[in-house]
Amino acid sequence: MQTLLAAVWAPLERGVRRLACMLVGHQYRVLRRMNPGARKVGCDRCGAVWGMHDRTRTFVPWDSELEAMYAPGGPLDPETYKG
Ligand SMILES: [Zn+2]
Repeated sequence: MQTLLAAVWAPLERGVRRLACMLVGHQYRVLRRMNPGARKVGCDRCGAVWGMHDRTRTFVPWDSELEAMYAPGGPLDPETYKG
């Protein structure tokens, strides 16, 4: 019973959190500032993560592709690229 409850609760809680975000909006928080115009933003409630870029006005879900772009040695590595 204990394990069944745990198995059901986690996805249920995630669903409720996501629903709350749909209703009242995400609780955005800057997780990482790559450079003055680009940030990695996350939601404290549902755990979703996005990439935000001021100059191109983009706001897209953070994925492995974005992670690779900003990783050390990547095309947008904050150490070398300042755009
Ligand atoms: Zn959210």
